[in-house]
Parts: sequence; C-alpha cells; structure tokens
Amino acid sequence: MTDNKIINVKRLPKDPGPAAWNRILTDATPYAQLDQTLQADWVVVGGGFSGIAAARRLSQLVGNEKIVLLEAGRLADGPAGRNSGFMIDLPHELNSESYAGSQERDRQQIYLNRAAIDFAGDMAEDFAMDTRIYDRCGKMTGAGSDKGIAHIDSYCAHLQALGEPFELKSARDMKDWTGTDFYQKGLYTPGAVMIQPAAFIRAAAEGLADSISIFENSPVTSIEPGDRHTLITPNGKVQARNIILAVNGHVQSFGFYPRRLLHVFTYASMTRALTADEVRRLGGVSDWGMLPADPMGTTVRRSSDLMGSGDRLVVRNHATLNQSIEASPANMRRAAKLQDRAFANRFPMLAGIDMEYRWGGRLCLSWNSMPAFGEVEDRIWSACCQNGLGTVKGTLSGMMAAEQAVLGQSELLSEFLDHQQPSLLPPEPFLSLGANATMLWKEWQAGIEL
Ligand SMILES: Cc1cc2nc3c(=O)[nH]c(=O)nc-3n(C[C@H](O)[C@H](O)[C@H](O)COP(=O)(O)OP(=O)(O)OC[C@H]3O[C@@H](n4cnc5c(N)ncnc54)[C@H](O)[C@@H]3O)c2cc1C
Repeated sequence: MTDNKIINVKRLPKDPGPAAWNRILTDATPYAQLDQTLQADWVVVGGGFSGIAAARRLSQLVGNEKIVLLEAGRLADGPAGRNSGFMIDLPHELNSESYAGSQERDRQQIYLNRAAIDFAGDMAEDFAMDTRIYDRCGKMTGAGSDKGIAHIDSYCAHLQALGEPFELKSARDMKDWTGTDFYQKGLYTPGAVMIQPAAFIRAAAEGLADSISIFENSPVTSIEPGDRHTLITPNGKVQARNIILAVNGHVQSFGFYPRRLLHVFTYASMTRALTADEVRRLGGVSDWGMLPADPMGTTVRRSSDLMGSGDRLVVRNHATLNQSIEASPANMRRAAKLQDRAFANRFPMLAGIDMEYRWGGRLCLSWNSMPAFGEVEDRIWSACCQNGLGTVKGTLSGMMAAEQAVLGQSELLSEFLDHQQPSLLPPEPFLSLGANATMLWKEWQAGIEL
C-alpha cells in the first residue's frame, strides 16, 4: 500500500444460506444504517467476535472518545451467527503431537485463549446473559470408531504431557448424555465454554450500544487514508483518526495480505424444532455439544429452547477452499448430502426429520496458522485471520488490536505479538486443486466419524 492511496474494497461478504442460530431467536430490532457524515475517533469495521471485542476493549480504554462500529450486514448474520459455538481453550488439532509447535508454544496459546474466553465471560456477566448464551460447561470430544478412539488416546497423552485435566467417558456415559449409541468413547475437558453464538453477539452489541454507535447494513466500500481517514459506505461517511479492520478474510478485499490468506467454507444443517415426543425418543440431556475425534469429522450440537427457538439438533461437517470468498450451490448440495448421512448414522430414532436450515460460513486460515494482525497502514490495524477458531481467536485479536492501538504495549500483547506474519501461498491453480483434493481425501479417511 502506498501513502494516501484510496483503498477500494473489491468484494463484500456473501454468506450462503441463513444464519440459523440468529433465525431461531426472536427478531432483533435493527441498528440504523449510516446515512450521514459522522466524526469519530475510532471506527471498528466488522461486527463479529473480533469487532465486538475491539469495540468493548476500546470502550474500556478510551470510553470518553467516539467509537463507531460499521457492519456490512446484520449483526450475527455473518460467520459469527453461523458457527458451532465452541470457545476452545486447548489445542484443537487432536492428532498433532503439539498444537502450536512445542509445549511452550502450546502453553502460551492456552494462556491467550483463556484470556479471551474470560474477556467474553466478563461481557456475559456485565450484560446479564443467560447461561445458555455463555455456558462454562467444558467440551466433549466423541469417537464412533476405533480410528476415532485412537485420536482420543493420542490427545490424552498430549493433555497429560501438558498437565491439563480431562475425564474419559465410556460408551454408556455417552449414550446417557446424548441419547445416541453412536459414540464409543468420549473425552471431556473442563476449560471450554459453549455459546449460542448469535445470541452472544446480539447481547454483547446491545450491552455496548450505550458506549459506542453501531450501524448495520453499512458496508465500507472505500477508505481515503489521511490525517483523518474517511470511510465511505453506500449512504454515508465517517471521518476518524483510527480504524480497526475486524473483517476476517475480507481484509484481503481491502487490499491487505494478498496471496497470504486461505478462504475456507464449512457447512451445517439444523433440524426443525423437535416435538415433545421426538425429544423423548432422542433421550439424553437437553443441551450438549460434541466435537469429532477426527478433525475432518462431524460436530453435533443439541440445544434446548431459548427465546422460543425450540429444541434442535445441528450437524456441521465438510470444508472447501474457495479463494473467490464465495461458496457455490454445488458446495452446499454436497454438504447437505454429507450432513444427512451423518445425522442418520447418529440419530436413527429421529429418521426422516427435516432440516429447516442449511448454511455455510467463511473461515480464514493462513498456511503457517498465523493471524493477519498489526498496523497495516498509518493508524489502520488489522485484527483478522482467526485460523478457524474465531470465537476465541477473533475475540483475542480484537482485544489485542485495541490494546496495541491505544496502549502500544501490555503484558498480554507481548505474549500475543510473539508470532510471524502469514506466509506466502503456493500459486493457483495448484493451491485450490491441491487443497480441495486433500480435504476430500481426509474426509474419506475419516470414515464413519464424518
Ligand atoms: C459452520 C461453522 C462452524 C464454526 N464453528 C466454530 C466453533 O465452534 N468455534 C470457533 O471458535 N469458531 C467456529 N467457526 C469459525 C468462526 O465463526 C469464525 O472464525 C469467526 O466468526 C471469525 O470471527 P471474526 O470476527 O474475525 O470474523 P466474522 O465473524 O467473519 O466477522 C467479520 C464481520 O465483518 C463484516 N464485514 C466484512 N466486510 C465488511 C465491510 N467491507 N464493511 C463492513 N463490515 C464488513 C462481515 O459482515 C462480518 O460480520 C465456525 C464457522 C462456521 C462457518
């Protein structure tokens, strides 16, 4: 980027299918669309986990200054309202010897992840969120096959080496908990949090709305950098000294990190609300989440009624690399097929139940799993590329961007900044062909865990 060159935003977000976690809640009153010229000290672009965390941290650090948040669509309609809601403190990649490269690295990641989970927890407390919106219930990983069990065993060894607590669960425990006899073994770790992702984002925004100005349906289409940057939206403008870009993979649409970001979509289906008889047939407890032992396997959630949402089951699987940052109808059809099969394998007692919602959502990864973080231009910070675990890493990068911009340094920042930049990707078409073929192969290898 050269000085004072206008940044034209090349692409705006397109989300395939509805954000089901948002749809099942009662309608939210929309925030206004920006239709005037505003003066501000800070603009946060993007209202997902990263944008909400950045706005919250700014309101704590410089609460007397004017903070504006601009969201392209509706809050919780993007990936923030499409995810499975696991806020995970521990290494996610079960079969890797060490998540981040070394035990020291692992401990640093766990420390940072827990700081982000606590930061979100403080919002949950301050804004009086229901325990089903932010629940410190830990997380379960389930295996339905010998291969999955082998993954769990290697993960246990890893947790033991790190001195992290866990409990193993038998097939009987798993059936009592979930109602299905699909899972043969489980691994419970206590430090994770389960959220209703859309309800969390909406409640956090509502809590922040007294101290910041939120605008929906106000995509930033260009930025004129200057002493006061000017952000242009279709019907308005904001002039501000500082900007935090919290747009995850779309930071590339602003011209930053070219050829360094992987745009992956993953997909999910949610049943219609279950009847009382179906809930009885299913059995198990009323709210639970299950991560797959095989990283390419199926995630499942069961959620009970919250704000009239009804009791529902959600299955998530399948991943595609779409460097255009758009998923295709063919991607959605294939995901639906895989999800129907995963559902039938796990819930034969609910055979024939319709999926009311099917959707996909964007993730942003880098080849070396590093965030796209830092001051990318004078007083413009990027808090992007969450490498799949955005509920936690998005929260972390939003907090860190605010701290870097306001404080310059902090104890947490010095740990967080101990990372490299995202590395350069292989050229096309090799990248997309190779990555999609590898993911298909790994899905096939996951067998019944998918
Ligand atoms: C099906 C699915 C399941 C998942 N499960 C999990 C999980 O269990 N745990 C987990 O940690 N993560 C999960 N994820 C990933 C997680 O949802 C993302 O990593 C996370 O939402 C990223 O947070 P973010 O705030 O960085 O970006 P986003 O949530 O993508 O927010 C960025 C926001 O920026 C807005 N934006 C973009 N361009 C502009 C613009 N020009 N102007 C204004 N606004 C703009 C977008 O509309 C969007 O709302 C899942 C994702 C999917 C799709």
